[in-house]
Amino acid sequence: MARAAVSGGLNRRLTWHAARLAEVVEETPSARTLVFDVPDWPGHLPGQHVDVRLTAEDGYSTQRSYSIATPADGTRVALTVQRVDDGEVSPYLTETLVPGDVIELRGPVGGWFVWRAADPAPVLLIAGGSGIVPLMAMIRARREAGSRALFRLIYSVRTPEDRFYADELRTRARDDMGLDVGYVYTRQAPEGWPAAPRRLSVADVNNGGWPPDFQPSCFVCGPTAFVETVADILVALGHDPRRVKTERFGPTGS
Ligand SMILES: Cc1cc2nc3c(=O)[nH]c(=O)nc-3n(C[C@H](O)[C@H](O)[C@H](O)COP(=O)(O)OP(=O)(O)OC[C@H]3O[C@@H](n4cnc5c(N)ncnc54)[C@H](O)[C@@H]3O)c2cc1C
Repeated sequence: MARAAVSGGLNRRLTWHAARLAEVVEETPSARTLVFDVPDWPGHLPGQHVDVRLTAEDGYSTQRSYSIATPADGTRVALTVQRVDDGEVSPYLTETLVPGDVIELRGPVGGWFVWRAADPAPVLLIAGGSGIVPLMAMIRARREAGSRALFRLIYSVRTPEDRFYADELRTRARDDMGLDVGYVYTRQAPEGWPAAPRRLSVADVNNGGWPPDFQPSCFVCGPTAFVETVADILVALGHDPRRVKTERFGPTGS
C-alpha cells in the first residue's frame, strides 16, 4: 500500500481526495500544468507525487502517478503532464479536462525522493524530459524558503520547444543566488548552441555537477533508462550511492 511521508504524517493511510481543476498553464505544445483545488489536502514536500484516478460513467477506473510541481500551497496541487500520444490517461489530462472538472487525487506519496529546506548540503538535480517536474518543486521550494543551499540543475530535453518552465528557469538562474541551470539537447539544439545534440554523457555530469567531495544530495528523475544511466554515471564518478536518489517515470511496471 502507498504510504505518505509529510512531517508528522509518516505511515498515514492515504485516502482519495476530490480535486477540482482550477487553472491550466500551457507549458509546451504537448504538456500542460494543471492546478487543482483540493479542499482537504494535507500538504506535501517537494519531490513527492500523487496518484490520479479517473473513473468513467460505466464505472471503469484507471490510475497513474504524477509528481507535484510546486511546494505546498494550501489547497492547491499543481501537476505538469506530458502527453504520451498513444496513452490512456495523459491525453485526457492534457486535452480533455477543463477548469471546473473534478478528478480524484491520492497522496502525497513518497518519503525518500524529497528535499527538505533545512538541509544545507549542495544539491545536484538531473532531469530527463518530464522528470523536471519534481525537481522544479525543489527549485521553487528553495526560493520560497530563502535556502542558501547551492543547487545545480542539468536538464536533458529533446528540443528547445520541449523545455518545461523555460521562462521561469531563465529568471531563477538569473535571480536566485546559488542556482545554476544547464541544458543538454538530445535531438535539436537552439541556434548557436555550442554543442551538437547528444545524450547526456559522463562529461556533462562531471562538468555541470558537483565534485563527489562536496557530498551533494543528487536527485535524478526521468524515463527509467535515463535514470539508470545517470545513476550509474554518478556512482562511477565517485558519488556515494546513498546520496543518489532516483525517481523513474517509465510506464507502470517498468
Ligand atoms: C512516480 C511517478 C511520477 C510521475 N510523474 C509524472 C509527471 O510529473 N509528469 C508526467 O507527464 N508523467 C509522469 N509520470 C508518468 C505517468 O505516470 C504516466 O506513465 C504517463 O502519463 C503515461 O500515461 P498514459 O496513461 O498516458 O500512457 P499508458 O496508457 O500508460 O501507456 C501508453 C504507451 O506509452 C508508453 N508510456 C507510458 N508511460 C510513458 C512515459 N512516461 N514515457 C514514455 N512512454 C510511456 C507505454 O509503454 C505504452 O506504450 C510519472 C510516473 C511515476 C511512476
